[in-house]
Amino acid sequence: MAVQPQTDEQSSADTVPAHHCVQGQALIREVNEQIHHLGLGWGADADLCNIVCECANPDCLAPIHVPSQTYEQVRRFPTRFVLAPEHVLDAFQRVVEEAADYVVVETVGPAAATAVRLDPRRAVPLDDGDRPT
Ligand SMILES: [Zn+2]
Repeated sequence: MAVQPQTDEQSSADTVPAHHCVQGQALIREVNEQIHHLGLGWGADADLCNIVCECANPDCLAPIHVPSQTYEQVRRFPTRFVLAPEHVLDAFQRVVEEAADYVVVETVGPAAATAVRLDPRRAVPLDDGDRPT
């Protein structure tokens, strides 16, 4: 990661798949935020949050049990996601924490900017992303 090419979202075509993946992850992240805040995931163990895998596969809805404290720590970083252990995409994710039931990954490279932009806890209005058609 010594060489960081200029991030030009409009012309770097090879980053498009990663962008798409991160957008899907961001959607699941919003779902998990609601689960977390509504307390829907709380089971018998009040310290455990039952969320959904935030991997890049849009069809993946694998349930994950994460300590709510860990979940809160992950959400402090807009580029971090909680996945099932076997769902990590090495191409644009770096594992920062591994447990038996889940893995915390950090999005790296140009896709990280997308993850930050879509962070539900930032609430920054973004209207400049749409191209006129
Ligand atoms: Zn998954």
